[in-house]
Amino acid sequence: MAVIQGATGDWEMVIGLEVHAQVTSNSKLFSGAATSFGAAPNTQVSLVDAAMPGMLPVINRYCIEQAIRTGLGLKAKINLHSVFDRKNYFYADLPQGYQISQFLQPIVGEGVVTLDMGEGVTREIGITRLHLEQDAGKSLHDQHPSQSYVDLNRSGIALMEIVSEPDLRSPEEVAAYLRKIRTIVRYLGTCDGNMDEGSMRADVNVSMRRPGEEYGTRCEIKNINSIRFAQQAINYEARRQVDILEDGGAIAQETRLFDSRKGETRSMRSKEESHDYRYFPDPDLLPLVLTQEEVDAIEATLPELPDAKKARLIADYGIGDYEAGVLVADRVRADFFEAVAKNRDSKLAANWVIGEFFGALNKAEKEISISPVDADALGGLLDLISDDTISGRIAKDVFEVMFETGKSAADIVEEKGLKQVTDTGAIEEMIQAVLDANEDKVEQYKGGKDKLFGFFVGQVMKASGGKANPKAVNEILRAKLGG
Ligand code: ADP
Ligand code: MG
Repeated sequence: MAVIQGATGDWEMVIGLEVHAQVTSNSKLFSGAATSFGAAPNTQVSLVDAAMPGMLPVINRYCIEQAIRTGLGLKAKINLHSVFDRKNYFYADLPQGYQISQFLQPIVGEGVVTLDMGEGVTREIGITRLHLEQDAGKSLHDQHPSQSYVDLNRSGIALMEIVSEPDLRSPEEVAAYLRKIRTIVRYLGTCDGNMDEGSMRADVNVSMRRPGEEYGTRCEIKNINSIRFAQQAINYEARRQVDILEDGGAIAQETRLFDSRKGETRSMRSKEESHDYRYFPDPDLLPLVLTQEEVDAIEATLPELPDAKKARLIADYGIGDYEAGVLVADRVRADFFEAVAKNRDSKLAANWVIGEFFGALNKAEKEISISPVDADALGGLLDLISDDTISGRIAKDVFEVMFETGKSAADIVEEKGLKQVTDTGAIEEMIQAVLDANEDKVEQYKGGKDKLFGFFVGQVMKASGGKANPKAVNEILRAKLGG
């Protein structure tokens, strides 16, 4: 819970989100036009999307299934009877003069999303509803000095609007919520979750209250397209509202925009100026009626979702809550871990996948799909650690070379002669040489300076080029030094 301290006492943030998620579908919600990102303007526009007279919408069954899948992933109620309405407003990028959107009777009702706030703390955020709607086109103001152009490629693309209860209490929770929604839709394959391409955007509603008291008046910050911006906008907005309230003023309910360059929100329109959309059921579309059997059939095809996968990784592999959380944040990463951990020391696998492997990927800005080291190759390296062929220390160097060259761990160890020295006779010789060269320190050690033990180990490891088996070094050294 984020508390803001004002001169007159504490204030608590209350936040609710409306997330617009573009449905992953090759064609639009009511037409067969294509939906791919980045196409040349107006190359993906059917007569329906351009609202030519007499054109009629036809529901895309696949988009409906995607919405149901998402609703099930949000543990929400699927409404077997839902209705598409016309939301009327006038704008250059809206050729119909209305948007088809579900209003009073959405396809998905109440659900819940669990947030992982670290250190075992979880938060349950209520989902109010999910409804389907069409996207509008886009006005282009930078193509001509005195005219605006319109690109209708997005016109008619299916969006899911996921509305949360005002249950969020801090920018950190909002970030966790957006990441969780993104992870869930990516697992389900119902939205690609790419906020920088506009596939996921959020309207952020913020109000302030005295802790535990009634909700205050909210402002809605429109169209946020990154998690970082959402956090910045909330922090700015919370401070702005507290300043007004502390001055004895009242918050005016309004829609605001976030200016990411200035880090500020500014007023777009007040509640009085807000549109009267004159919603009514679209007479071109019948109510959408589903059967429980259809919903059940879709449910049967759902993949294992992040919460279930996390619980299973902890139970099956004995890894920690934090490690499991990192792994399940991305399905491909979790799969990679499971492939590495299979029939191996799973904690060693988790440490290596999360530490060295993810670290190297991040540094190289690479995805797993194009990683030069695959799960088998990383597993091969871990096998060499487990059977004492190399130490964990040397393994890090070997991994670096694997990542650079794509060669196998065994080949690199062979080529560079990195095989661990486990021959106790050879180790004993190295130890004797180190002790002979440091007689003064041996005296000090015997005189009680225990810390010098580490120094001797370090010298022996150095003399061996890091290749002496550390366990053997410790044992023999201890025997030689008598204690
Ligand atoms: P509208 O249709 O005007 O957008 P809704 O009732 O659908 O209004 O609410 C939209 C969003 O605002 C929801 O996500 C909800 O959780 C959030 N919200 C409602 N009241 C508050 C409040 N007092 N403070 C913060 N968020 C709120
Ligand atoms: Mg709204």
